Order: sequence, then structure tokens, then C-alpha cells
Amino acid sequence: MTQSIMSIRKQEAGKLYILSGPSGSGKSTILKGVLARLPEAHFSVSATTRGPRHGEVPGRDYHFMTKEEFYELAGVSGFLESAQYVGNWYGTPAAPIRERLARGVDVLLDIEVQGAAQVKERMPEAVTIFLFPPSLAILEQRLRRRGTDTEEKIVARMKRAREEYARALFYDYLVINDTREDAMEEVLAIIKAEHCKLESRRHLIT
Ligand code: 5GP
Repeated sequence: MTQSIMSIRKQEAGKLYILSGPSGSGKSTILKGVLARLPEAHFSVSATTRGPRHGEVPGRDYHFMTKEEFYELAGVSGFLESAQYVGNWYGTPAAPIRERLARGVDVLLDIEVQGAAQVKERMPEAVTIFLFPPSLAILEQRLRRRGTDTEEKIVARMKRAREEYARALFYDYLVINDTREDAMEEVLAIIKAEHCKLESRRHLIT
């Protein structure tokens, strides 16, 4: 075989990766690190009715919307999936994902468990990764340290985290976010391994 890895990758279809895990498990930090290492991959920016947190940039972190705008987009089936999370709506715009995958670009989603189940039903080839914090106590510490939620929201996010743990059973991969570096390496290894699967490279065997 004389082809380079780059030219082999160019002939492969794009893959859809879903990263879920309780709020505060470190998904966005891990994804930022992964995307820095995979500049050709695309991060899907979700729509949400939640207000921006300090430092969040519209269009980069989320498309921030009113409920009316969100429902309008949902009505024209603009979302691949959508779900409510602790009082706010979140949804994945479908068109940018379909367009990227068709061009062979890998797409990464940071979405909660109900949305992940909807995507997996529509696109069973999607690769699902569940990110665990080392423990529930550490998760609560991280949420409090972040300082962006009221006490009521922290209690709601912790309740939701306990429910989400049970759904981890339905994921393809589990990653523990003990140290950021290790978790990032594991996610990168999953992405690489998925591209090496026989069904991704069958076209190389003539
Ligand atoms: P946060 O408010 O902390 O940014 O996000 C709350 C939860 O919503 C997180 O678990 C995050 O992964 C999830 N989330 C973000 N965007 C989407 C989306 O488009 N769809 C779904 N179903 N969940 C999302």
C-alpha cells in the first residue's frame, strides 16, 4: 500500500461523534482540547433558550435564542434532535451536520442523553461516548466552583446527573475525566480507532 494516511482519510466518510455526560463532567473542556488537535473536525454549535454565561460567545458556544425562535426552527424540522434540560431547550441544527458529513468531515456533538438517543435512532452509525466525572462529589464541587448556577439549579443539575449515570449503559465508550489530558487522549484514541475499523476502510481492499 503506497497511499499516505492523509490521502486514505480523504476518501473516508465523515463520522459523527456524540459526547455526553453530566453537566460539570468537563465535556466542553475536553472537546476544546480534542478540536485543537483535530483542526479539520467540526464542532456542532447547538441552539439553546438558556441565557449566555459569562465568557460565552454567541455563535461559538451556542446560538442563543428566545423560546419563540427555538420553536420556529423546531417546526421546520431544523433540528436533528432537541431536548429540555433543567428548564431550558437545547437543539442540534441538522443542516450544517449533514453538509459536513457529506464532505467527509468528522462532526462532534456535546449533547445530553435524551438528544443522544434521538440521534442514535436516526443515525445508528453515530459513535457515542459518555464522559464520567471521577465521582458525584467531585461533580458537585466542580459545579459550585464554576459559580454560574443558583443553588436551585445546582440541585437540579445534580439530580439530572444521577439519572444520566444510568443511561451510560447505552453508550459505545466510557471515558473517566480524572485528568483532562488522559480523558482527551482517550477521546482522540476512540476517534482514531473508529476510522481504522474495517467498515470505514473496506474500499481499500480490492
Ligand atoms: P449547559 O447549560 O451546561 O451548557 O448544557 C446543559 C446540557 O445540555 C449539557 O449536558 C449539554 O451537553 C447539553 N446540550 C448542549 N447542547 C445540546 C443540544 O443541542 N441538544 C441536547 N439534547 N443537549 C445539549
